[in-house]
Amino acid sequence: MAAWVRWSLGQQWLLYKNGLGTTNFCETGCFFPSSDDAPYADMQHEFYALRAGIGDSESSASEGFMFSMGLMRPDSRGRVKLKSDNPTDHPSFRFNYLEAADDCKRMIEGVRRTREMVHQSAWDTYRGEEVTPGPQIKTDDEILAWIREVGSTEFHPCSTCRMGTDEGSVTDSEGKVHEVEGLRVVDASIMPNNVTANLNAPVIMMAEKIADLVAGKTPLAPLNPPLG
Ligand SMILES: Cc1cc2nc3c(=O)[nH]c(=O)nc-3n(C[C@H](O)[C@H](O)[C@H](O)COP(=O)(O)OP(=O)(O)OC[C@H]3O[C@@H](n4cnc5c(N)ncnc54)[C@H](O)[C@@H]3O)c2cc1C
Repeated sequence: MAAWVRWSLGQQWLLYKNGLGTTNFCETGCFFPSSDDAPYADMQHEFYALRAGIGDSESSASEGFMFSMGLMRPDSRGRVKLKSDNPTDHPSFRFNYLEAADDCKRMIEGVRRTREMVHQSAWDTYRGEEVTPGPQIKTDDEILAWIREVGSTEFHPCSTCRMGTDEGSVTDSEGKVHEVEGLRVVDASIMPNNVTANLNAPVIMMAEKIADLVAGKTPLAPLNPPLG
């Protein structure tokens, strides 16, 4: 998008509070089970009322609609490793996306379920021919190859320094590092597992809870909502 178009969009929003500048293009989403066998809503959809390459540096928006789909609580495990004993060196990260067979299976099922949703009658007036992956991509292997080709991340890595009581855990439930005096960790790394959510709110919740503990305030009683 040319700079002057971006500038005029900004002006329009500033002066009249309307136009394309009023939307982040991702206003709707949902959590849904990838299949009838899924034990919880293991997929997240973000819905866009346009078609575009999300990561493209130049705008490629065109008429249509699209979903981005993400796997909640994946089984695949990555790792963070120090590259050297120099503390200013950035560590090495390996995410291992789609390493676990069950993650692959659930992503394939998620694509099939997305197609099922789009073929419901509510979409009849809006639906054209499927653009990506395209109707010719049908088998599990074809769908997985497409996912591996185009898949990216929603940036929710966590649990590299997880709380727990087992050998591999690093902190207790208050973020205190086992066997080290006076050191706490309070960020996404202490989550025992990933959650069915984006990470910002859970991290803030943990930080608020542990800040209360540090300040000596009595934490609020747990609500114990049903798990799902
Ligand atoms: C591109 C992107 C988009 C995202 N979108 C969403 C979203 O839409 N919704 C959502 O819920 N989540 C989103 N997330 C995820 C969310 O932002 C993170 O999961 C969350 O911020 C993690 O919180 P944190 O406290 O663990 O780490 P961070 O928020 O990364 O905080 C770490 C802090 O430590 C500081 N720091 C690092 N090294 C040092 C050092 N040596 N000394 C002192 N300070 C240091 C950093 O400057 C930073 O302020 C997104 C993440 C990314 C990257």
